Amino acid sequence: MRAMILDAPHQPLRLGELPIPKPNSQQILIRVRACGVCRTDLHIVDGELTHPKLPLVLGHQIVGIVEAMGDGVDKFSIGQRIGVPWLGYTCGDRCPYCLSSRENLCDYAEFTGYNLDGGYAEYTVADYRFCFPLDPSFPDLQAAPLLCAGLIGYRAYKMTGDAQKLGFYGFGSAAHILIQLARHQQRQVFAFTRPGDVPGQEFARQLGAYWVDGSDVLPPEPLDAAIIFASVGQLVPAALRAVTKGGVVVCAGIHMSDIPSFPYEILWQERVLRSVANLTRQDGEEFLTLAPKVPIRTQVNTFPLAQANQALDALRSGKISGGSAVLVID
Ligand SMILES: [Zn+2]
Ligand SMILES: [Zn+2]
Repeated sequence: MRAMILDAPHQPLRLGELPIPKPNSQQILIRVRACGVCRTDLHIVDGELTHPKLPLVLGHQIVGIVEAMGDGVDKFSIGQRIGVPWLGYTCGDRCPYCLSSRENLCDYAEFTGYNLDGGYAEYTVADYRFCFPLDPSFPDLQAAPLLCAGLIGYRAYKMTGDAQKLGFYGFGSAAHILIQLARHQQRQVFAFTRPGDVPGQEFARQLGAYWVDGSDVLPPEPLDAAIIFASVGQLVPAALRAVTKGGVVVCAGIHMSDIPSFPYEILWQERVLRSVANLTRQDGEEFLTLAPKVPIRTQVNTFPLAQANQALDALRSGKISGGSAVLVID
């Protein structure tokens, strides 16, 4: 099969041939149709996430068709379309996190496209217990971004409680999905883009943002909560200054540049600063049940599999204008 292979960090992916993987016990073999490109993939290529399996096939927003099943798979059927997310394995009962319904923090977790080969390839295998059925109302390309930008974005969104005035710092793949849920729930979204990113600001406006400006500007009124989707540490004090007493600032990314020091007074008054890590299967089930009800419509920029490097470069330089980048595997 054709695959885009990461041999080592700081190198472009290499288009190569790999044997089609065989599903072991509890695994399914998937013919990949589409795979979303995530900022986490960039952090792996750029060496900011330091312990990838190597060589590695990236990609953790996989939409594909079940081609074969290993022993012990008692869900799904051959020919069924499924989605594979970032969370690829947890121990289930050996660590305190799994035993307390926090499998996103599992001590033995393995992640798709990081510790396990992912979806930048014609085929992949996945543990069926971590795969999701996909609502038929989502075409393949539109379903792919739901599987990380959607799922982990949703976990971050839940951490904002019932905030009515909600700030989104960074308006890319996750924000363009979550604003649709927020509006469906009658919340006001304040969208902060890179300063001067006029197309990004226009995109946020089109999706119904209540207020839009650069991240160097304070909102016109205090926010109840903010989610930082961008991997920029300077946004942490900016968001803390924007939220009201008792407000929460959620860092939704897996990696961030260093956070500059800031005066205690912007955290004082019970403001909360927290991160969100990974997802639980329950997050996935909740979000994928909600998504067709909203209904969420993702906007995608497509690239052929062989142009995965161009897709990553476009994401790195902020040139994915409006929505998500998705690889098409044909
Ligand atoms: Zn565990
Ligand atoms: Zn991701």
